[in-house]
Amino acid sequence: MAKNGEKQQATGTPELVFGGVWKYDPAPESTEHFTIAPRYELFVGGEWKAPKTGKYFATIDPATEKPLSEVALAGDKDVDAAVKAAQKAFPAWSKLSGEDRGRYLFRIARILLERAREFACLETLDNGKPIKETRDVDVPLAAQHFFYHAGWADKLDLLFPGQTPEPLGVIGQVIPWNFPLLMAAWKIAPALAAGNCVVLKPAETSPLTALRLCEVFQQAGLPAGVVNIITGDGKTGAALVRHPGLAKVAFTGSTEVGKEIQRAVAGRGIELTLELGGKAAHLVFEDAAIDQAVEGVVRGIFFNQGHVCCAGSRLLVQESVHDLFVQKLQRRMARIRVGNPMDKNTDMGAIHSAAQLARIRELVAAGVEGGANLHQSACELPKKGFWFPPSLFTEVAMSHRIAREEVFGPVLAVLTFRTPEEAVEKANNTSYGLSAGIWTDKGARILWLAERMKAGVVWNNTYNRFDAASPFGGYKESGFGREGGRQGLRAYVRLAGGLLPG
Ligand code: NAD
Repeated sequence: MAKNGEKQQATGTPELVFGGVWKYDPAPESTEHFTIAPRYELFVGGEWKAPKTGKYFATIDPATEKPLSEVALAGDKDVDAAVKAAQKAFPAWSKLSGEDRGRYLFRIARILLERAREFACLETLDNGKPIKETRDVDVPLAAQHFFYHAGWADKLDLLFPGQTPEPLGVIGQVIPWNFPLLMAAWKIAPALAAGNCVVLKPAETSPLTALRLCEVFQQAGLPAGVVNIITGDGKTGAALVRHPGLAKVAFTGSTEVGKEIQRAVAGRGIELTLELGGKAAHLVFEDAAIDQAVEGVVRGIFFNQGHVCCAGSRLLVQESVHDLFVQKLQRRMARIRVGNPMDKNTDMGAIHSAAQLARIRELVAAGVEGGANLHQSACELPKKGFWFPPSLFTEVAMSHRIAREEVFGPVLAVLTFRTPEEAVEKANNTSYGLSAGIWTDKGARILWLAERMKAGVVWNNTYNRFDAASPFGGYKESGFGREGGRQGLRAYVRLAGGLLPG
């Protein structure tokens, strides 16, 4: 097996060489190169271990459909070994001073930034998202989560005054494919800062950056077993969340699977946080700075191909500016560059998988059938790979599936409202409650609306802004618990011996 991260000579565009080793030169002029090994094992107890199932599965580049590598399929025995490795590491890790835990996290954050380019390229290849986004959002934000939580590791007493924060134990974490590295960082950093050990399962279609993160842990000298990464499918995830050795389960993914996990955890007396789906409303009032709002709406729905839980997928625009706004939006959509995700000028990359593309097509067909008016940018899509053009629907009714269900793709449903009261009513008329956006010039209106929106995050005159210090999470079918900030850390500690409520 080729060593992960091994440096090699440049050859230009990605190609398969040396009998199955992927060699990639991120830019012809660059001297930084990395390889993708033909096969990845499980990271358990600080070592790479072959799965006891003896099985592997392929992960592909969604922009070309070419296989990138194969990864181990962990079964029940592998899950058990990973949880046991974490249990073994827990006594020493939890007794380490916060200052020392913080040092490890700082080291991880710094190494991640040093290897930023490699992580950005790998994420783009494995996920299909544009390099511009992995370079400017995913990787820096992932590092920020380690930096941020490193800073708290020795200050937990200050964070929960009058109480004694104690780690929970071994945390089982399951993450989705839309922000593979970032979701891993969101989950691992606070857990470790609080003194817990982790077993994490990345999504089956985008496991490579989480596996490469294990190299960073090794480079940082993180004690063996503190973080274990096991790859596999839904069955692996189900085996992990059912394992009796866990003190908490943290899940990010679909509402459907979240409900299944809630049932699996019920009655076991362990902690659970769920970050699930969304159908966010993006409100535009007639007094808004229209051109800026257009940019915000474009960012809200077409960022990451719309594979974003908090995507502003329902645009509610005030009736008086609807026609003007839609016109400007369509003009702006025509300038979105769709294509090769590795090209730094690309705005929208590939749809992550054939299954996700089928889901998007099904919902768009339902929208057309239901009588909504479909507008798609006239862009030329590559022949190979999974692609979908930036799309918007007008003449949408609240009863349409495209107005109610999470498309998780570059598809915007446009609705209208007349009064702020009607806007709030329509915005909240959803089973989800993850995020919302408001575009208006009036500060008092923002406050009035923010109080009434049933959403975990409400952005004002901006959209899709994330920060490690800011809690993120949902209501209703979008889940419960928060990640990021003080609230995110609270979910990883038990508060003992205090007079104040937790
Ligand atoms: P998914 O629920 O299909 O899978 C998520 C993860 O769960 C994967 O690792 C999968 O292997 C695993 N899994 C599948 N079945 C399981 C089971 N029975 N038990 C345990 N684990 C199981 O979701 P996805 O398609 O990977 O991701 C898209 C979804 O994630 C969207 O609905 C999106 O809104 C949501 N999401 C939410 C947030 C948030 O913060 N709220 C962030 C990103 C994505």
